[in-house]
Amino acid sequence: MSELSDLYQQVILDHNKKPRNFKRLEDANRVADGHNPLCGDQLTVYMHLDENDVVRDVTFEGSGCAISKASASMMTQSIKGKTRSEAEALFTEFHKMVTSELDAETTPNNLGRLTIFAGVRDYPARVKCASLSWHTMHAALENKDSVSTE
Ligand code: ZN
Repeated sequence: MSELSDLYQQVILDHNKKPRNFKRLEDANRVADGHNPLCGDQLTVYMHLDENDVVRDVTFEGSGCAISKASASMMTQSIKGKTRSEAEALFTEFHKMVTSELDAETTPNNLGRLTIFAGVRDYPARVKCASLSWHTMHAALENKDSVSTE
């Protein structure tokens, strides 16, 4: 377990320091804002969803704690190139994992490196930080322009 949390720390720190896809996307056709008032995390997800329902590109901007930023960074890496239904399926799996409905160690899943966030399920306040970007991405897919964890 300490190995897992070392990896968790490393990955979070790395993505917090160098967030991937951290920019405004000029040709975005879906944009949504996410807000987690409990922690103060605020981010915008930009997405280009093409005519075949494939996420051609996805980026984010915003400010917040290390977990929210690292999670957003990895979310963009995970759903870029995926179809809308694949992205939605990943959102569902991620949400179930951080809310303890899915045990990523025993249940087959497509989460890959995202399983490092499994540990947040023990910290209810952190669950909102980790899932904010996913809720925001989901809102963008649904053509909603904002989402709040409250
Ligand atoms: Zn946070």
